[in-house]
Amino acid sequence: MKGTSIKSSTLDLMRKYDFKTAKKFGQNFLTDETILKTIIDCSELSKNDCVLEIGPGMGIMTQILCEKAGRVLAVEIDRKLISILRVSLFGYENVEIINDDILKLDLKKVLEEKFGDTPVKIVANLPYYITTPIIMKLLEEDINLKSITVMVQKEVGERICASPGGKDYGALTVAVQYRCIPRQILIVPPESFIPQPEVESMVVRLDSRDKPPVILKDEKLYFRVVKASFGQRRKTLLNALSAGNMGKTKEELKEILLRNGIDEKRRGETLSLEEFAKIANDLNS
Ligand code: SAM
Repeated sequence: MKGTSIKSSTLDLMRKYDFKTAKKFGQNFLTDETILKTIIDCSELSKNDCVLEIGPGMGIMTQILCEKAGRVLAVEIDRKLISILRVSLFGYENVEIINDDILKLDLKKVLEEKFGDTPVKIVANLPYYITTPIIMKLLEEDINLKSITVMVQKEVGERICASPGGKDYGALTVAVQYRCIPRQILIVPPESFIPQPEVESMVVRLDSRDKPPVILKDEKLYFRVVKASFGQRRKTLLNALSAGNMGKTKEELKEILLRNGIDEKRRGETLSLEEFAKIANDLNS
């Protein structure tokens, strides 16, 4: 019943403002109330929380975020949606809308300015054409992060939560799992959106780790090792690393793998975060 109500509010707003969704901005509006409620419940918001919403669209989820959280910052790229947001969010005193490209924003600076030292909870139905760059930005920019609860393509959700050895395990998995503990929440069918995306979706929650799962001498080197290891999936680990400009000869790399009990013939996608750390720390010694 309620499902039809957010569907009809979405359609009403689109009609009223003659708004046509833009594929180039990944605009698939969520119109299933049960799924919206799951995202909100899963974010575990209280009035002490500061929330960043990426891509508020017409502001339907934003309204609930404003009711549950202390403060909300909503970053929307599409100028045409800003005037609609001003109307749909009218009366909410705890929200600020920024008309910008999330990928171009100095997020650390903005969040510090708006939220001080309160850690941020990110809640969003992400635009799928830039899901991975957004997640990487959130992980790399040293923001004071508490959790990320987001809708992503199912395939990206599976990569985020993957375990070593599977086809979904890759550089994105390692980057996410180094900073966060991920959880799959639920799979969402295309019918839950207007317009319907071509793929299934998934809600995932990532909780920021209090401390990294591995001790690293040099984080940048760690991610170079990860990138090289996954760079050429058909190659053995030794060959992938020696093609990856690690600053060591093939013989030296062979020694490092041997010393750390890692079979040189393994493929990068079978290594755990701990094994990548052993290689990176040994390269650094
Ligand atoms: N939050 C709405 C919902 O759940 O129905 C809309 C979600 S829609 C999948 C993605 C939203 O992100 C759209 O409003 C789109 O305009 C916005 N968006 C796309 N690219 C963006 C970017 N680079 N920076 C900020 N917002 C962006």
